[in-house]
Amino acid sequence: MAVIDLEAPFKERVAQALGDSHLAPAIVRATDRLLLVRAKAMGSIDGEKLRSQTRQMKEDVLRNLPDYLEQLERNFKANGIVVHWARDGVEAGEIVRGIGLQNGAKTVVKAKSMATEEIHLNHILEQAGLKVVETDLGEYIIQLAGEPPSHIVAPVIHKRLEEIAQIFHEKLDMPRTMDPTEMTSAARVRLRNEFFDAQMGVSGCNFAIAETGTICIVTNEGNGRMVSSMPKVYVVLMGIEKVVPTVEDALLQLQVLCRSATGQQLSVYCSMTSGPRQADQPDGPEQVHVVLMDNGRLQMLERGYGEALLCIRCGACLNVCPVYQEIGGHAYGSTYNGPIGAVISPALAPEIARFKELPHATTLCGACRDVCPVKIDLPRLLVDLRADL
Ligand code: SF4
Repeated sequence: MAVIDLEAPFKERVAQALGDSHLAPAIVRATDRLLLVRAKAMGSIDGEKLRSQTRQMKEDVLRNLPDYLEQLERNFKANGIVVHWARDGVEAGEIVRGIGLQNGAKTVVKAKSMATEEIHLNHILEQAGLKVVETDLGEYIIQLAGEPPSHIVAPVIHKRLEEIAQIFHEKLDMPRTMDPTEMTSAARVRLRNEFFDAQMGVSGCNFAIAETGTICIVTNEGNGRMVSSMPKVYVVLMGIEKVVPTVEDALLQLQVLCRSATGQQLSVYCSMTSGPRQADQPDGPEQVHVVLMDNGRLQMLERGYGEALLCIRCGACLNVCPVYQEIGGHAYGSTYNGPIGAVISPALAPEIARFKELPHATTLCGACRDVCPVKIDLPRLLVDLRADL
């Protein structure tokens, strides 16, 4: 499978993607399976009711965002969490880098996080001399390959088993094997050592609970729990729209996220952090920092694209999109891809025209709206963007 030149113009990237005979079959195979398990999981309950309730909750958050953020900040501080505010990605990167350097961090372990991808945090930390290790298996593989993720939930969806085997052989110096269990075991051993070595853990945040000041990260591999509990410093980078009002709201979102993203009733792990380790606790980080990042989100509201801030990053709209299924994620050339990426990439960017081709890279078939767990009217937003660009 050819690697797409991310610096090439949009049409060239698309041509490269379409010219790769392995890409679309690999993506279709994976996305069809995800759609199947999603349909089963949503069909086994009143999926429509769940979608409506989640949308209602997220709309309430957006309407009252300043109040919920103030409540969240108050409760974070009451729990001993250090709160930082970042207007943009540059500020957010400086804050995280500063925390790492002040604490003498040399190795940073990371859980999968689109917010950190959004600001290219790995690059910022590496420029400062820190070693950054992705610990989600898919993210670990693409980090070894030197590529960005190509899907919100399944970062390595574009790679075939043969290619992953080659990466492990070349980068980890392990005997050539096509056995996924052997490859996973090799990664596990190496990652465990990194966890023991790391001085700082970094994650995103699936949602943060305002009434309790709690950070929640949802994973299936347990790496998120290790990132948030083993290093002495734990840093969370979250978009300001990730706040939810109550524990019940968090459980509502957890339920819809798992069903919509991976077809699970519940993820294997949901790690909740409400502050640093207390004197009577055997483990946990000595410091917890949260960076609350705007980075274009308020501007999205002002530009009239606030509905896209309801997104819970489940990836279902990518899976169902006939364009994404053909060209994959890298051809979009932005951190976020698929239908939601075609909306938020230009809407988040300081220059709205920066990703002007993306709203046209859609068929407006409406499948994304029908599958979205928070009923975002993506076709309408895409048409509005076409008019605005
Ligand atoms: S727009 Fe909807 S379907 Fe797409 S990632 Fe966000 S929540 Fe999921």
